[in-house]
Amino acid sequence: MYERIGLYRKLEPRGIAAPVFHYWDRHEGALIAAFDHAALKNDTRFPYVLQCERIKIVEEALKMAKAHANIDLRLKTEFISLRQDAGGVLAQVVNPAGEREVIGGRYIVSAEGARSIVRKDLGIAFEGFTYDDRTLNIEVAYDFTRHGYAHRNYISDPDEWSNLFHWKGPPDRWRVHFPTDPRADDEALMRPAALQAQLQKFLPTGKPFDIVGSNLYVVHQRVAAKFRIGRAILAGDAAHINSPIGAMGMNSGVHDAINLADKLIALARGEADDSVLDRYERQRRHVAIAHTQAQTIRNKRLLAERDPAVRRRNHDELRRTADNPELARKFLLRTALFESLREADSIA
Ligand SMILES: Cc1cc2nc3c(=O)[nH]c(=O)nc-3n(C[C@H](O)[C@H](O)[C@H](O)COP(=O)(O)OP(=O)(O)OC[C@H]3O[C@@H](n4cnc5c(N)ncnc54)[C@H](O)[C@@H]3O)c2cc1C
Repeated sequence: MYERIGLYRKLEPRGIAAPVFHYWDRHEGALIAAFDHAALKNDTRFPYVLQCERIKIVEEALKMAKAHANIDLRLKTEFISLRQDAGGVLAQVVNPAGEREVIGGRYIVSAEGARSIVRKDLGIAFEGFTYDDRTLNIEVAYDFTRHGYAHRNYISDPDEWSNLFHWKGPPDRWRVHFPTDPRADDEALMRPAALQAQLQKFLPTGKPFDIVGSNLYVVHQRVAAKFRIGRAILAGDAAHINSPIGAMGMNSGVHDAINLADKLIALARGEADDSVLDRYERQRRHVAIAHTQAQTIRNKRLLAERDPAVRRRNHDELRRTADNPELARKFLLRTALFESLREADSIA
């Protein structure tokens, strides 16, 4: 999709190509399975994950938007509220000078993230749940590949599951995620000594890690009850939020944006009527529930499973899948969201 709009070639040199990801059993200290996106070589010209920070994507997309004759970009402008009728939408904003302004248009796309004002103003329920345990994210300057890790690692443990990602570099930065005790105090969790202890428990090197950042975040699994009311349409985190285990949040938000842009273009050219926006809702809401939510909930359950018999069964299944090229391909088509796109295409 990024290639279609001329964005991919700008991102490739700024990201880390990660063809393989690993499932590890932290309890046993063993690699369970390695999945290689090469299995998708006949499905895509890009059989790998490009690990690329969101800010880099925003920087490159912003340059393209600035250079585009049809885009009127208003930075440092805060959206406050909307009014709509049969003829159009009026959005009230505060401009960089602190003045209120009204901007008119035919449609408004709510892409203001999980706290979407549009969603709340329209009274659209954000259905789902929030996990009790917050996730601790520690950013470390360290090369974990020397311990056999891939650039992306999902690590199962009945006591403390984890994710380990080569997040950017050079200079190398990795992110390690851990669940936290819901009763634990933020300040205690974030103390430098506590972070070091957490990392040493994960990988005992005997030397302090170079910690370059850390934060705690709350994880939700929620989907908006409607993606469209009249001329207001939700996309990205405004429409759905999920656990980051599986790296699907931004990816599925980008899929919303591309799907919706095609439909808005057809509307603007008079090639479609606005029933195409109902199809957008049918397609993307289905994907959010049946793919993004279902897969990320499954991912967390898999990593955190406590029952030894179920863990063994899950791990055997992962091994069998990774070792069989056709099963591995099917698995990767699901985890890399290709299947969600094919299914959405088939929705009338
Ligand atoms: C720890 C963590 C790791 C993640 N890792 C991944 C990953 O590996 N892969 C992946 O695909 N996803 C990942 N995600 C999810 C991803 O970050 C989000 O899904 C994605 O950023 C959502 O994009 P968005 O544009 O919809 O919303 P946002 O990124 O929230 O952007 C909303 C924008 O709207 C602006 N805004 C808000 N309100 C207003 C207003 N009133 N007026 C004007 N502007 C406003 C905000 O300033 C912001 O710039 C991760 C999330 C977390 C928390």
